[in-house]
Amino acid sequence: VAKLRERGGRMTPQRLAILQALLEQEHPTVDEIYRQVSETFPTTSVATVYRTVTTLKEMGEALEIQGTDPVAHYDAHRPGPHSHLVCVSCGRVMDSPEVDMAALSSELGRKARDWRLVEQAQFFGVCPECRARGAAPGETDAE
Ligand SMILES: [Zn+2]
Ligand SMILES: [Zn+2]
Repeated sequence: VAKLRERGGRMTPQRLAILQALLEQEHPTVDEIYRQVSETFPTTSVATVYRTVTTLKEMGEALEIQGTDPVAHYDAHRPGPHSHLVCVSCGRVMDSPEVDMAALSSELGRKARDWRLVEQAQFFGVCPECRARGAAPGETDAE
């Protein structure tokens, strides 16, 4: 909040609700944040949520993650680069257990010549819930 104020952004109750939704949900998309905020502030627009999240991303306070869906997920808990597990069945995004990214990065960097990797990875798999439902990789939920 303080950092947003420093940037001259007005701290409206609506913006505060966006921050809250971003922190309460695990790797939410703009749409998921919007759905939570619009329960309290029906006049909120998706554009406002998007603008606020983009500002936070530019400030380095939120990390943008690309999952299986075309829309991005955001993590404001750990804004620094970190790895994620992405379920190819239901699309949920979780923080990955620690892996030795430096080692992985240098191995990949060595094998794929001239590629400089950023220390962040998305690992795609099937989450335990989806496996319990017997979902096969690549299968998507019809909502
Ligand atoms: Zn899943
Ligand atoms: Zn994360």
